[in-house]
Amino acid sequence: MTQKDERNEKILQELRRLYPDAGPELHFTNPFETLIATMLSAQCTDKRVNQVTERLFARYTCAADLARLEPEELEPEIRECGLYHNKARNIVAACRVICETHGGEVPDSWEALYALPGVGRKTANVVYANAFHGDAIAVDTHVFRVSNRLGLAHAKDVDHTEQQLQQAIPKSEWSRAHHYLIFHGRRVCAARSPKCGACTLRDLCEYYRQQNRT
Ligand code: SF4
Repeated sequence: MTQKDERNEKILQELRRLYPDAGPELHFTNPFETLIATMLSAQCTDKRVNQVTERLFARYTCAADLARLEPEELEPEIRECGLYHNKARNIVAACRVICETHGGEVPDSWEALYALPGVGRKTANVVYANAFHGDAIAVDTHVFRVSNRLGLAHAKDVDHTEQQLQQAIPKSEWSRAHHYLIFHGRRVCAARSPKCGACTLRDLCEYYRQQNRT
């Protein structure tokens, strides 16, 4: 094991200790709900998405229900999530493909998820990991910031961060690590003022070392 591997493992150990219950904060109970909630979550808080989906999933329980709508009919139901025009168009289009190509069921392969309209790498990874227990590490703003600060990755964009995290973290832990890093980003390692003084990862953190270099 190299020194870097040992340091990465120590970071993971501490994250496991800090967040043993880390998991999705979006509410969903099946692959259809996972996909729709994740598509709605772009640039929106999980809390707001959960409020919207509580109503939405009471009325629409499967892809066929949403595939029958015109995007304009869905827009008012998801307006509070922001970007509702694009989100409605993508959700209806994705549900139509699911009905036409996948028998009405959200596909369980990463490639098929990624091929759905409006589904990028991050959404495909989240759905693959959370709905199908696939090995994937989705890189959102928290995962990007925290992993690059800690030194688990050294990348300027989310795609390279994802590739580097796949190297730094054992495959069986990709999905859990995604949640650990989000939890840490929300609770301690905030974008503007990270609480480094209270952070138990600071002795392992490259950002902290650089900021406190004498
Ligand atoms: S030491 Fe600071 S920058 Fe590093 S992970 Fe902790 S809060 Fe984030």
